[in-house]
Amino acid sequence: MTQAPPFSQLPLSAATLENLSRLGYETMTPIQAASLPIALAGHDLIAQAKTGSGKTAAFALALLARLDAKRFDVQALVLCPTRELADQVTQEIRRLARAEDNVKTLTLCGGATMRPQIASLEHGAHIVVGTPGRILDHLERETLSLGALNTLVLDEADRMLDMGFFDDIAAVARRCPKQRQTLLFSATYPEGIAKLSQQFLREPREVKLAEQHAAAKIRQRFYEVRDDERLHAVGLLLNHFRPASTIAFCNTKQQCRDLVDVLQAQGVQALALHGDLEQRDRDQVLVQFANRSCPVLVATDVAARGLDIAQLEAVINVDITPDPEVHTHRIGRTGRGDDEGWAFSLASMDEMGRVGTIEKVQGRESEWHPLSELTPSGGGPLTAAMRTLQVLGGRKDKIRPGDVLGALTGEAGFTAAQVGKIQVGEFSTYVAVDRAIAKQALQRLNQGKLKGRKVKVRFLDEAAAE
Ligand code: AMP
Repeated sequence: MTQAPPFSQLPLSAATLENLSRLGYETMTPIQAASLPIALAGHDLIAQAKTGSGKTAAFALALLARLDAKRFDVQALVLCPTRELADQVTQEIRRLARAEDNVKTLTLCGGATMRPQIASLEHGAHIVVGTPGRILDHLERETLSLGALNTLVLDEADRMLDMGFFDDIAAVARRCPKQRQTLLFSATYPEGIAKLSQQFLREPREVKLAEQHAAAKIRQRFYEVRDDERLHAVGLLLNHFRPASTIAFCNTKQQCRDLVDVLQAQGVQALALHGDLEQRDRDQVLVQFANRSCPVLVATDVAARGLDIAQLEAVINVDITPDPEVHTHRIGRTGRGDDEGWAFSLASMDEMGRVGTIEKVQGRESEWHPLSELTPSGGGPLTAAMRTLQVLGGRKDKIRPGDVLGALTGEAGFTAAQVGKIQVGEFSTYVAVDRAIAKQALQRLNQGKLKGRKVKVRFLDEAAAE
């Protein structure tokens, strides 16, 4: 095995290298090692990369290297399939841009109102991240101009094509200057990728990584269930294996609702993610799942699209999907990076045909286990390690993660280890704290001050129930 290469072998500024080491990025991931030299040299690029591979930094470092922060024009545009991905990309770019002064990154996605986006654009931005439809909308209204653009990134291009964005991407690309660098990232290469590449990339270099043995890191187990014991079996799995983070996939929204009811009745903390949720509720569910305040997310495939949850310990197929590709996609969400993951599937007699198709596609036989093997492993029903506090104040109030951490570890007297993920939104800040100190933390934040001002703080799980 060759050693993973350090970032210092790349032509990056000292400030950037220092920031990377502060972020804990010691060595490059394979996709970074393969694509950064090409991208930094200014070539167009097609790179095969999945979420979790470090692909965001692979293109973000390249576009940041060419950015002139003194020039207040949009110099880089990243197109993403979904709002969640766009938010994640923006956050990663912001982290990586910390080395430079005042790089402004803006997210522009559909589903949000236009007016605040237009107002933000009037203030200017260096980097725009967004979904193709909304970006095109801004271009057509001339609220966004790409005259000074030098880098165009198509992130998760295959999924954008899946979602029918080809024409929108093409229309956006045509509005970019001809002299530019285009970087395309995609996990798979359906036909449309070649078409995009021919039309919008110039002599692209291709980066493909040898298939990693992801399958070996996913331990798959099948359980035969009767339909009337299926939902109960999910609770058995959770209380037996006690994974810290699980997505349970259902084929229908109704099944999602029913499962959450059953789990909650058993005392297992679970939240549903399906298409009927309002955007705000959806965001709050995801915040709680990602920061470990909720161990189980119950989702339909459509709702889970575009989610990138690091360190998912288990995936449960509550129903067997009729599409073996969907099955592969579902279980591929666990066992990422160096972690091992569990994939459990519950199948009734009626679903054995589907299991057969999955076995054929995966080229291996399923490992069956009896439900009777599952015994609660003590410690009561599965609950989360953390609880989320919602501070009613965000970026608009100039709150930064450090302010919240400072308030909790300073006057309030908690240790940094008791504080989890802190996410600052436009109007709200979400902070995960150790469940054992959650009540005290709430009280002290409500009594104290943040940025010299009093703030209102509440439990997100209680706010959501209102
Ligand atoms: P991505 O595939 O871009 O979604 O990245 C997956 C995760 O890996 C993100 O949380 C990044 O912050 C992190 N990451 C990216 N590059 C590195 C690196 N070279 N070393 C350590 N972590 C990294």
